[in-house]
Amino acid sequence: MDFSIPAATKQLLAKIDDFVDREVIPREAEVFQQGYFKAEPMLRGLRGKVKELGLWGPQLPKELGGLGLTLVEHGLVSQSLGRSPLGHFVFGCNAPDAGNIEVLHKYGNAEQQARWLEPLARGDIRSCFSMTEPDSPGSNPTELTCQAVKDGDHYVIDGEKWFTTSADGAAFAIVMAVTDPKAPRHLRASQIIVPTDTPGFHLTRNISIMGHPGEGWMSHGQIKYTGVRVPQSNRLGPEGSGFLIAQERLGPGRIHHCMRWLGICERAFDLMCKRAVSRKIDGDRPLGTRQLVQGWIAECRARIDAARLMTLHAAWRIDAEGFHAAHEQVSTIKFFVADVLMEVLDRSIQTHGALGITDDLPLAGWWAHERGARIYDGPDEVHKVSLAKRILKRYGMAGAGSA
Ligand SMILES: Cc1cc2nc3c(=O)[nH]c(=O)nc-3n(C[C@H](O)[C@H](O)[C@H](O)COP(=O)(O)OP(=O)(O)OC[C@H]3O[C@@H](n4cnc5c(N)ncnc54)[C@H](O)[C@@H]3O)c2cc1C
Repeated sequence: MDFSIPAATKQLLAKIDDFVDREVIPREAEVFQQGYFKAEPMLRGLRGKVKELGLWGPQLPKELGGLGLTLVEHGLVSQSLGRSPLGHFVFGCNAPDAGNIEVLHKYGNAEQQARWLEPLARGDIRSCFSMTEPDSPGSNPTELTCQAVKDGDHYVIDGEKWFTTSADGAAFAIVMAVTDPKAPRHLRASQIIVPTDTPGFHLTRNISIMGHPGEGWMSHGQIKYTGVRVPQSNRLGPEGSGFLIAQERLGPGRIHHCMRWLGICERAFDLMCKRAVSRKIDGDRPLGTRQLVQGWIAECRARIDAARLMTLHAAWRIDAEGFHAAHEQVSTIKFFVADVLMEVLDRSIQTHGALGITDDLPLAGWWAHERGARIYDGPDEVHKVSLAKRILKRYGMAGAGSA
């Protein structure tokens, strides 16, 4: 078993780390103080520099102007970029655009790709993914209520969505809507492209998350779809393929998120260790001389490393054998790494004392905004139940099912 990172990937990671340290991390405070829209020109400038360096779109296929990395390679890049809350955006691989690009690349027809995929892959426009609803359980999207009803060669969409990340200022939404209520549960819904300037598309608010409504790319929108009329040719893939496409999107997406969270863990860990050696708590003796803090440092190191190995192994399995072969591993890392993330952030905050909960450091912002890691892309409990059922099925438990 070879755990070494190929020389070319190491070089790429070194370039990315250097750019993040020199150009991205120093601009964080500006973005969080000014808000997304005021900072957008500066962020576009950074994106331009990334393109000039030939580092744009690590996950994008080469024909779309990206680096065409494998999932393992992109996982490593994602960890480097995750060290800054701006990293993925500046390199053109931020959610939800990255997932929408994958879906449009795989399921979009030539016209949809020319109109939406190409400008999205260049970073000229932004997008969002609109599936979760306030009045139905996101953990079981077969219960969706938003409907797309055929009228001539159009669909008319009615419903309400929320937690549509980055809807504010997006050029289009990919909307999951019921196209055939009588079909079997997993064939009822389709994904449909809705330009956000279509009459009846109404962003009612950016939802305030732990005291921050956010804006632009850094927001979660609530949207009313009222008689939204779009051509049937805006549908992605065959009618009723919405769940299949959503599953395909979430597989690699979960690897990207887990590796991004590990990037956050590394920065939080680095800050914790720096504080442990610099903060004098008893004469000349720093915090790091205390065994309790030493214990946190050792435990965090072990948990981060375990989480990374598990995630890279899942990515390697998807690269080698496809998503279905790695189903159980993906469920495992989704709840395990999210838990490691929250623990490492909490320990790092605690090590910093009062400074830890200020916005002078990125820790408090991450702690608030990444709490969602245990909820989105499948809450912890759904993944645990799915994993346990699959295991117990192998032990012959009746009615265990597969998920
Ligand atoms: C930061 C963030 C960003 C998001 N971005 C998007 C986006 O861009 N687009 C989009 O469409 N959605 C997005 N979501 C929504 C997300 O996908 C849903 O929140 C998620 O699917 C859970 O659905 P729900 O909130 O309706 O919770 P519910 O389905 O109501 O579940 C509530 C809780 O019940 C428990 N639970 C659920 N099922 C089970 C079970 N089988 N066994 C035991 N316990 C269970 C879990 O603890 C769960 O947290 C985002 C969410 C967050 C937090």
